[in-house]
Amino acid sequence: MRITDDRYTRDRLKFDLAFRLIRHEARTGTIRSWTGLSDDRIRKLFRSYVQHLGAADVRRHRGKPPRQAAYFLRNALLRRQSSGLASILCQYGLLESSDSSQPGTPERLRWAELFCVAWETFLQEYGRPQLGFEHACFLRRALERQRELALDNCSMCGALLVVPAFGRRPAGCCFCGDAPLEPAAT
Ligand SMILES: [Zn+2]
Repeated sequence: MRITDDRYTRDRLKFDLAFRLIRHEARTGTIRSWTGLSDDRIRKLFRSYVQHLGAADVRRHRGKPPRQAAYFLRNALLRRQSSGLASILCQYGLLESSDSSQPGTPERLRWAELFCVAWETFLQEYGRPQLGFEHACFLRRALERQRELALDNCSMCGALLVVPAFGRRPAGCCFCGDAPLEPAAT
């Protein structure tokens, strides 16, 4: 009986999480790898979400997730939003903890819920940001790998910044002046 209860609770958590991810326009691959639900099940959930909640403007992404780390540094608006998002991910401890546990396990479900809370905090602060949910997933992984992107602090106000892992870094945040630092004189 206890096993049945646990199983029921976990299934419930998976469905709740899947709906939450559908609302955030997460890709099917992300929903599958976090909840452990099959593509077919996700498709049905998406259909019932759209039909019953009238969310006709929610799109289901099927294609490949974003892959360009340079996107986050492309202009001042994106740099500000990327740095703001990284700072929220950091506050929730999501840059130190990986999403490497098995799909659908209690650890993975808890981690994914926390990621959603962080994303919702970002939306509250930034309204309708240029960055989407999948950008947030990509940014977190890129900051974990530190091959293309890294974190630094603004040399004037100390705010957290997303910067290129190699090459010229900005002198400060967009409020203090974000022109790239000149290379040191030789
Ligand atoms: Zn600053």
